[in-house]
Amino acid sequence: MFKRWRQYRERLQHQHGWEVELTCPVCGVVTPVYNGWTSSHAIHLGNTPTIFANLNCPQCVADLHEAAGKKLVELFADIAVTPFNRRLIVWFVGLCAGGIPLFLGAGTFLGSLGQGATFLGVVYYGLLVMWFNGQVASIRYRCVCGNPTYKFMGMLGRSYCYRCSSCGKLLRLQD
Ligand SMILES: [Zn+2]
Ligand SMILES: [Zn+2]
Repeated sequence: MFKRWRQYRERLQHQHGWEVELTCPVCGVVTPVYNGWTSSHAIHLGNTPTIFANLNCPQCVADLHEAAGKKLVELFADIAVTPFNRRLIVWFVGLCAGGIPLFLGAGTFLGSLGQGATFLGVVYYGLLVMWFNGQVASIRYRCVCGNPTYKFMGMLGRSYCYRCSSCGKLLRLQD
């Protein structure tokens, strides 16, 4: 049970990375040095990029954060969230909305058993969220190249931007 939970958690985690060339204001086009990543509490609006990776120019050590933001927009602005992901969101919203009358109704009619219905409701939504997150994450474990190695490059608005290291395919997901 715990092992499966750990596997589930690991599957949800994405691997940060940056393998695309950037333009340094001083040196021109360079392959940036990736120095880990920092969490960000930016508010994700519209198509604003959020870069988590710490990127520096290999020659002059300039911070390439801004260049990375521009690059992310350039790469992903025209990439749509995958159809499977969009269908999952529709299903998730539908199942969430569908559960409300079900559990409220059960709670009202069952009276003293209503607490049982509340408990079932909590379990239902817990499982629903787990299922949804698991399904969205599973998209990153498939690729046309057969060797999916998706690296998380940052966020564009509220969606997550990935690039497969093996074949360069770009992937945009939303949860
Ligand atoms: Zn430079
Ligand atoms: Zn690939």
